[in-house]
Amino acid sequence: MMKFEPCQWPGCPAPSGPAHFVYGRAYCPQHYFSGIRLAFVEEIRQLKEGQTSTRFRSLFKRYIEALLAEKEAPEGLVRLTASQIQGRAVLSLVSEEKILFSIERHGSFIPTTYQFELSIKDMAVRHLSAKPHYVTVAEFAERFELSDRKIRALIKVGRLKATRASVLQDMWYSLMVMSGRASVPKPWDPARLDFTPRNAHLIPFSEVERFAGLEESQ
Ligand SMILES: [Zn+2]
Repeated sequence: MMKFEPCQWPGCPAPSGPAHFVYGRAYCPQHYFSGIRLAFVEEIRQLKEGQTSTRFRSLFKRYIEALLAEKEAPEGLVRLTASQIQGRAVLSLVSEEKILFSIERHGSFIPTTYQFELSIKDMAVRHLSAKPHYVTVAEFAERFELSDRKIRALIKVGRLKATRASVLQDMWYSLMVMSGRASVPKPWDPARLDFTPRNAHLIPFSEVERFAGLEESQ
């Protein structure tokens, strides 16, 4: 019979598991997640300002993996593996208490950037916000309490940037086909619930921010 060395978590008498190694330290299944967290915090302390390391990326992945094994994935991380999350995460803050990161998703032809907080203190990942890269004329009108007609007039005279839905729909559809998902329904199919006409205007989110800025400065 194979014998395992004891768990290296202080005061734990349990034997370590065969698959619960964290950079040379063996833990029992109960302390495996805590062991990853400890190594993760130690690695974060070693990092130079604004840089990551191979070990950081590996522990980030394993930390997420351990989290998702225990809790349901928050909105925006659903159907992503820990490796995909690690590979696609754009970090904006790394500290011993928390990590802030964002991920761009392409579930619809309008890409959305989700912001997350990975709490190292609480061993949790929280969804903070979701920002679509484009809004519809109706959404823009509602946000600024203007009529759809006024918005379309602003687009026509070039005071508001907009793009046709067809451009984004075509881009998204070819991306899906290229990544092997040829069976996805076409976003311009009128049978779809979220059907958006091909010629509809879509306004970049940067325009929402610009307009909000104009309003504030008035
Ligand atoms: Zn233990």
